[in-house]
Amino acid sequence: MIEPLKHLGTTQVQPEKLDAGFSDIAPPLSKRQAALESERCLYCYDAPCVNACPSDIDIPEFIRQIAQDNVDGAAKTIWSENILGGSCARVCPTEILCEQACVRNKAEECAPVLIGQLQRYATDNADKSAHPFQRAQASGKRVAIVGAGPAGLAAAHRLAMLGHDVVIHEAQPKSGGLNEYGIARYKMTNDFAQKEVEFLLGIGGIEIVHNSALGRDITLDQLKNDHDAVFLAIGLGSTRTLALGHEDAPGVMPAVDYIRELRSTNDLNTLPVPESAVIIGAGNTAIDMAVQIKRLGAEEVHLVYRRGEEAMSATDHEQALARDEGVQIRTWARPETIELDNSGKVAGMRFVRTTLDESGKLVDTDRSFSLNAQAIFKAIGQVMITEDLDPAIEISGGKLLVDEQLRTTLAGVYAGGDCTGTGQDLTVEAVQQGKKAAESIHQDLMAAGDK
Ligand SMILES: Cc1cc2nc3c(=O)[nH]c(=O)nc-3n(C[C@H](O)[C@H](O)[C@H](O)COP(=O)(O)OP(=O)(O)OC[C@H]3O[C@@H](n4cnc5c(N)ncnc54)[C@H](O)[C@@H]3O)c2cc1C
Ligand code: SF4
Repeated sequence: MIEPLKHLGTTQVQPEKLDAGFSDIAPPLSKRQAALESERCLYCYDAPCVNACPSDIDIPEFIRQIAQDNVDGAAKTIWSENILGGSCARVCPTEILCEQACVRNKAEECAPVLIGQLQRYATDNADKSAHPFQRAQASGKRVAIVGAGPAGLAAAHRLAMLGHDVVIHEAQPKSGGLNEYGIARYKMTNDFAQKEVEFLLGIGGIEIVHNSALGRDITLDQLKNDHDAVFLAIGLGSTRTLALGHEDAPGVMPAVDYIRELRSTNDLNTLPVPESAVIIGAGNTAIDMAVQIKRLGAEEVHLVYRRGEEAMSATDHEQALARDEGVQIRTWARPETIELDNSGKVAGMRFVRTTLDESGKLVDTDRSFSLNAQAIFKAIGQVMITEDLDPAIEISGGKLLVDEQLRTTLAGVYAGGDCTGTGQDLTVEAVQQGKKAAESIHQDLMAAGDK
């Protein structure tokens, strides 16, 4: 039950339309399409697409393998750098990463090579009956990981491959982190997140303890005492507040909480859906929320951002998706008041128009406007919950401070993914940091073992 919206009705959208709205947004390539698309690659030397891939996948190599009909080889090339290559193929904003950098991304060529789609083709169609990687000889070392999201899972796989034993403590009943509980439902369908976790665990040597939260069920001291190293991959657990009155009124809620229910339910018809909604924010979460609530049947959806379109962190592609869906994107407006009806439920929101002053600072104008809304979804960024951590771990800008080797300021404790300030908050970045942290832990453990 979504408590803040329980007074609202459920969707009136016809079942076929509902199914279509939440089925795969980018259907997979057929064998023939993949073969043709792979032929478009120029196999560039010092390929710009590789430089633009946060997880260092050898893109021309895997595309060449697809062209040679070696799908298993292509998938192994991808997985050797990015064991969550299947989910990254679905969720990566390729339009600002590899595909933006592709030399074929010119008007006269029509489109870049569809790298993301080819990556999906390889990872979906490869033979997974035997796990493609083997573990090194057992090192006798044990590593604890907190969080089974992309960063924690990628670290676990690499550590297991290097011969270490891994235990992951995950607060939720399922693994996957935001792959399971956050990504838009139409980007990852058919329980893909769980299937990928199963595949990854095929390496062996990884135990996941679900419903086990750092701070509630275990302490960092315990983990440190019982293991040779600890990797924190706890993501960002809490939504920023608007700091306005009535923020706890029925009708106001964090977008990620609604999306979690939307991803978890087997029956979309049970979700409460407002007739009109306001989404505050300008990133992935705001767009995903706006598009999904529209597809669930909200008639009027406004996404409101205090700066201009160019400052929005959602890509042009994502903004276009929202507009095509009929979402009204309103810029240069700051939330001022949450408006309630006579029974204390959300009825709308009042905004002040904003602008930049001569020094470039965002300031209010004397103009304002109101929007009717039965629900207000906050998508103004996530913050880390820090109270369960050791005070010796330094925090900077609200995130865990790490060095280049992903070491925190507490000896033996490493961190990666959204909970650190390194890189953008993207799945592929989290995977890369998990992999890098595993390699740092391995090096440090082996160096210590030699002494
Ligand atoms: C709504 C939304 C949509 C997004 N869409 C995209 C997208 O389309 N493309 C993209 O590239 N990126 C997207 N992102 C960002 C991407 O999901 C994250 O960057 C990525 O999941 C970060 O991985 P992580 O492992 O660091 O953290 P998470 O995925 O957040 O995983 C952290 C894990 O740690 C667990 N945990 C937290 N605290 C504790 C504790 N105390 N004890 C035990 N376990 C704990 C959590 O339950 C969770 O499983 C989106 C994010 C959001 C919020
Ligand atoms: S930049 Fe484009 S053409 Fe060149 S290797 Fe990468 S995908 Fe192929």
